Amino acid sequence: MLSYQHAYHAGNFADVHKHLTLFAVIDHLLRKASPVTYIDTHAGRGLYPLSAEETARLGEYRQGVAPLWKAREALSADPLLCAWLSSLAEVQHRGGELEHYPGSPWWLSHRLRARDRLVLFELHPGEYRHLEGQALADNVRRVQGDGLEGLLRRLPVSTPRLCVLVDPSYERKTEYAEVAGTVLAAMHKARHAVMLVWYPLLLAGRHHALLETLRDGGLRKIWRSELVQRESAEGERGMVGSGMLVVNPPWGLDERLGEAMGRVCPLLGKGSRHTGDWWVEE
Ligand code: SAM
Repeated sequence: MLSYQHAYHAGNFADVHKHLTLFAVIDHLLRKASPVTYIDTHAGRGLYPLSAEETARLGEYRQGVAPLWKAREALSADPLLCAWLSSLAEVQHRGGELEHYPGSPWWLSHRLRARDRLVLFELHPGEYRHLEGQALADNVRRVQGDGLEGLLRRLPVSTPRLCVLVDPSYERKTEYAEVAGTVLAAMHKARHAVMLVWYPLLLAGRHHALLETLRDGGLRKIWRSELVQRESAEGERGMVGSGMLVVNPPWGLDERLGEAMGRVCPLLGKGSRHTGDWWVEE
């Protein structure tokens, strides 16, 4: 039974971290002409009006995308943030106001070229209905179904390049192991793929097993980016940060993202800090 709905968290610090990383990866892929297949295994709704009841209830975007939007003039000194914020402006109906936050399907599709492909998987029937309602390019395929199984079924792809985003809700503890197993199986079938895997930084440390399985899985290069949003109080539970692994990261991603996150962190609050390092290096 699925109960997670991303609308409650849309535009929070983890979304900013995840989508900025994804944006930077896409930016690199677009530098070459050869076609790319993008696969988003856990797509969500695609676009989130910030005034929607679910999103407004927790208002997590107020400690996420909102301070970046407010500081966008100053942030435009950084090339990655400048491009990301310009894209974000495209989705606002009234120029100056932040009214919508786009999900991964939108970040993946808005710069899709005619020769590229995008496949979006979403399992939840209600979330899928929202996704179906989004206006996306013709070369976007939406599938209601399991994204991890769907990814493996679609490999190898017909384009020379492949980029995959794996962004589960980790509602079930077994999802960490399922993600690790799927990433290794997928990389076995598509060794050249760039794969991004999001995970929560939990005080319970459940993500450690995922990281260790991938470290020991024989992959050549994995870059790790972690954003800690706040220091944890004693006895506290829950998510204190956001993590991204990038398998086969494009050259220069570490530097570009590191610089951008250095500007973003002070806006996310006291105690917010970013680290980037090689989790696996040949
Ligand atoms: N990637 C989205 C974004 O960045 O905007 C957010 C995705 S949200 C964290 C996770 C989504 O995965 C939820 O919408 C949930 O319904 C969906 N989901 C859960 N299990 C799934 C599965 N096995 N296959 C595909 N989607 C799944």
